[in-house]
Amino acid sequence: MSTRLVLFGPPGVGKGTQAALLQQRLRLNPISSGDIFRKEIEAETDLGRMATRYIERGELVPNGVTIEMMAKRLRQDDVRQHGFVLDGFPRTVKQAEALDEILLKMDFGLTKVISIEVPDEVVLHRLAGRMGCTKCGEIYHREDKLPKREGLCDKCNGPLFVRADDQPDTIMERLRVFHETTEPVIDYYLKSGLLQRVNGTMGPEETYAQIVSDLIHVMSEVS
Ligand SMILES: [Zn+2]
Repeated sequence: MSTRLVLFGPPGVGKGTQAALLQQRLRLNPISSGDIFRKEIEAETDLGRMATRYIERGELVPNGVTIEMMAKRLRQDDVRQHGFVLDGFPRTVKQAEALDEILLKMDFGLTKVISIEVPDEVVLHRLAGRMGCTKCGEIYHREDKLPKREGLCDKCNGPLFVRADDQPDTIMERLRVFHETTEPVIDYYLKSGLLQRVNGTMGPEETYAQIVSDLIHVMSEVS
């Protein structure tokens, strides 16, 4: 039986790390809407060209185009066989309904919807203290992971910097947008009984253990 998951969580919560662990250990295909957009645009497919037109005008890519791109990926064989973990889609209730329809046509349903939850203060602390190496990309933290010499990377001596995305005002705005857009979608899945809330304040392995323990429970219920 393949497992089909959707991941939700605020910025900096490590959704990418969880998707990578689920891929390594359960062979689930990580599907991120951002990656799919990039691939379609690079390959200059009809969908990619359509998306480009909106992006160039600074407009949001319409639901129809986004949904069609996701549907195309979800219908591919590797995804059918081994399942998937979705990140960045669905972003709206309309998209969540469309996802249900796509899967229904394939005789599938979602196994679980995972919401990795971390209080805003914790997200702010994690992100606002981050410094990245300009040369090798290693990430440091002002309180939790200091470099040995101030402002310099331990690995390559490169200078460290704070990303524009990690400025406190930007983080607060990203969190506000996250809550505003995600909460209605979370409610949608709460009503359908698929939602699993996971505590994301500990390490990646602890978060992973919570995600998987519930999955095993669900899978044994089914079999
Ligand atoms: Zn470095």
